[in-house]
Amino acid sequence: MGMYKKVKSGVYSLTSFLVHGRFKTAQWDFDHHVVPPLSSTSTFRLSSAKRATKGFQVFAEGDKSFEKPPIYIYERLDEPTRSMLEDRLACAEGGEIGVCFASGMAAVAGALGVSVEAGQEIVSHHAVYGCTYSLFTNWLSKRNRIRTKFVDLVKPSNLARAITSKTRVVYFETPVNPTMELIDISEMCRIVADANESRGEEDRIRIIVDNTFATPCCQRPLDFGVDMVVASLTKGLCGFGTDVGGVVVTRREFQGPLLLYRKDFGGVLSPKSAWNILVYGLPSLSVRIKKSSESALEIARFLENHPKVKSVAYPGLESFPQADLATRQMRDFEGNAAPGNMVYFVVKGTANSSGKRAEKMVDHVANHAYTITLAVSLGQIRTLIERPASMTHAVIPEAAQAAGHIEPGGIRLSVGIEEARDIIKDLNNALNAV
Ligand SMILES: *Cc1c(COP(=O)(O)O)cnc(C)c1O
Repeated sequence: MGMYKKVKSGVYSLTSFLVHGRFKTAQWDFDHHVVPPLSSTSTFRLSSAKRATKGFQVFAEGDKSFEKPPIYIYERLDEPTRSMLEDRLACAEGGEIGVCFASGMAAVAGALGVSVEAGQEIVSHHAVYGCTYSLFTNWLSKRNRIRTKFVDLVKPSNLARAITSKTRVVYFETPVNPTMELIDISEMCRIVADANESRGEEDRIRIIVDNTFATPCCQRPLDFGVDMVVASLTKGLCGFGTDVGGVVVTRREFQGPLLLYRKDFGGVLSPKSAWNILVYGLPSLSVRIKKSSESALEIARFLENHPKVKSVAYPGLESFPQADLATRQMRDFEGNAAPGNMVYFVVKGTANSSGKRAEKMVDHVANHAYTITLAVSLGQIRTLIERPASMTHAVIPEAAQAAGHIEPGGIRLSVGIEEARDIIKDLNNALNAV
């Protein structure tokens, strides 16, 4: 309410908003709380049958306003702790509403579920998160007759060629996992707006962007005109590696369908997880990202000069092929360049030897490093390392890996908040051992 208006009008920054929230909210009277309460009840006492009827009616209309006292009925429909988190996430992403799901994948499924139906098509970038790829190929395509066309959206001209009269969704992640290539969000929006010009309201193509890698701290796709942002809360938004969750942030018109989808498929975020993200994850997001991004740049520079490293991809490096796009698209809440905390690098060698070396390197890290952990996931306070070709992206056939520039010698690093020189020391030891 008042407080958010002051944030919007620029009196206070979003960084401060993520710490304090609205101060006063219709979701809960916590005039006497400094920390928002963790509400934990599966059902809610209704004071009259009339009030219950009104509650169901409001829910069915999807009319969930953060400014009106809600009528809570049952946890899976709506409840206060999660609702406060949804509000804060919506503000961070620059959207009108947020709907939280049990995991990032439940959020991806929800965003797609309310946007496409049987017989229609999705155009997706060819390299996407493994489970998203599996959702497209194993479920939507095989069981729901929703076909996905995979194209290389790093080259925007490929999009216009892939769109048909059946296309309803354009889907991508940027930066692309793990290669850190960028997709030009403005260009995607321009091409889709062109295609939508001749279409009726019902047939319009929506753009859905997975913003997990960047987090709203480094990039807000809705500002460029996309329709929905999805994110895994499990990664940078939670930040401590303690909870699993997901969110869809979008315009108010999609709130009703998303709540209905969540209610019926049941993949709802637990209030206990919501509370951790609301109380620890979001308030610390800006400092965590700032610290880990500064370290990521230092580490990327170190790697660039290491004799065992063939190439480094980090959007903050002068040598980054899409450096201009990175500065245009990846910005923090204050408008400064924000290249994020993910680094991808390739170990030198032939196709065969570089893969073996990369494996040896991560094994060395697993056995000897103090600040780096061999583990999947990302965006945590701890630095995590993994080898995409044999781990996160192993399900992708070799030819498709090559097409997506995922090399056998590639290594993905999610930089944490340890001292950069300690991370560099551990990396140096591991690289020198291969
Ligand atoms: C982890 C991840 C997901 C899935 O999130 P879960 O919370 O693990 O379900 C989706 N997209 C990207 C880019 C991810 O990194």
